[in-house]
Amino acid sequence: MKTLAGSPALKIQVMCEGIRYTEALGRATQHAMPNYYPYRFKEGEHDPTGRGITTIPYLINTRDGTEIRILGDGDSPWHVEGDLQQGYRLIDDRSGRQEPIDFEPLCPWQSQKTADGLPFAQAGVTTHGDMLVINVAPGCEYFLHKHDGVSMRCGFCAYGAPDERTAHLGQKTGQLEIPQPTLERMHEALDAVLDQTEIRHIYLVGGSLTDWRREGERFLQLARFVRQVNRRGIPVALGSGALPDDQIAQFKAENLVDHVCFNLEMWSEPLFAKVCPGKNRYVGYARWIAALETAVRHFGRGHVYSAMVAGIELDPEHGLEWEEAARIALEGAEDLCRRGIIPIYSLVWPSGGRQRPDYHTRIRSYFETLVGGYQDIRRRHGLAISEGFMCHRCAYMQLECDLDRAAPVTA
Ligand code: SF4
Repeated sequence: MKTLAGSPALKIQVMCEGIRYTEALGRATQHAMPNYYPYRFKEGEHDPTGRGITTIPYLINTRDGTEIRILGDGDSPWHVEGDLQQGYRLIDDRSGRQEPIDFEPLCPWQSQKTADGLPFAQAGVTTHGDMLVINVAPGCEYFLHKHDGVSMRCGFCAYGAPDERTAHLGQKTGQLEIPQPTLERMHEALDAVLDQTEIRHIYLVGGSLTDWRREGERFLQLARFVRQVNRRGIPVALGSGALPDDQIAQFKAENLVDHVCFNLEMWSEPLFAKVCPGKNRYVGYARWIAALETAVRHFGRGHVYSAMVAGIELDPEHGLEWEEAARIALEGAEDLCRRGIIPIYSLVWPSGGRQRPDYHTRIRSYFETLVGGYQDIRRRHGLAISEGFMCHRCAYMQLECDLDRAAPVTA
């Protein structure tokens, strides 16, 4: 196994082990971007809030600009001390090691509203680092369907069906088009973010439709709108599900996006079918990969990506030990890179197996082996991650950009 050093090593450790609550971490929410996942105190853990659940910051920035997503975990050996005036420190109880850190700041736009009174935070725009994510139709139809008692949603997904939670965006089940007022509100929010933060990548995402062509039509509408309002010409990535060939060609012909990212999530057909039953049923494993290959033909090498969830296959139901899981994932990285497709691995903790004493160490061994081995594969194939697609300033749970920054790939 490759041994990582510096910020990438720290990032892996903190991603895999989480951070436990301290009052300093809680107080930081006064000026830090809040986490989408609340901190849940475990049984017996000291809870100064008395509520069992509280808000914590979302992202840490180390002094060299490495971004790390915060996952709360009452068992973690990592905790935060300090304050805004004197600076914050991330501390490892085991060694006493202390790292100076900052938190991703809370920007004014996060409490501002559109002209008709919708908080920008609900207008379909979020950020992490210098990436702006546009998601004006987050409801996913896969949540509405079951086959043989199995939900078609992806096993790790925290989205939901189009329902009352997406009503403020005007998203309704069965309705393909994004309502114009939704796009206008998103535009207002986008302008505010661009005025207040340095954004270098725009990523279009959304929930899936069971008909991939209809999904493609929705994304064409969105991308055409974004093309008009993207006044600074920031690179745009298409983060839909896999699409039919003619629609991929259409995105290119109209010059709507610079990069394509159809998320296969999981290498190997059996794992894909289990973890992403909806993608498997409504698109299919082979068709998904074929669509990525079509995208490479139109957009070229270095412009086609596929996000992968890394770690969820360590869930006990899959019966894999970390060595085997890493071997399969690396086999996938090799295969995809050979086709000119660049996978991007995001760490996702398995939900089961927490009683195992090696729960955290096996996640870490798996992820370290994967990202280290994958760096060699990228290099061998001369595939560099485009600065327009993502970079170390927005890679909050991925390591590729951090590693390539330390040792660049020659494309
Ligand atoms: S397709 Fe996307 S939104 Fe739908 S369940 Fe899977 S990950 Fe979630």
